Amino acid sequence: MQWDPKRNKMRSGTQCRFCRSGVKYIDYKDIGTLGKLLTHRGKIYSRKRSGNCAGCQRKVKRAIKRARFMALLPYCA
Ligand SMILES: [Zn+2]
Repeated sequence: MQWDPKRNKMRSGTQCRFCRSGVKYIDYKDIGTLGKLLTHRGKIYSRKRSGNCAGCQRKVKRAIKRARFMALLPYCA
């Protein structure tokens, strides 16, 4: 069971969007996916907010930091 912040209820099954879609590697060039995990100020959403599992949140973190270095995503806005 996992907390669902949007519905304010508990949910069963995996909620991690990357585990559900069977992604092994999160690409730093995939701005559409990474952009959803950022606030409008460019901060990375917490695991509680994004619903990612610990492993995927680490992959997301790495991908976003790479994308920032390549000037694909902002450090701050
Ligand atoms: Zn996951």
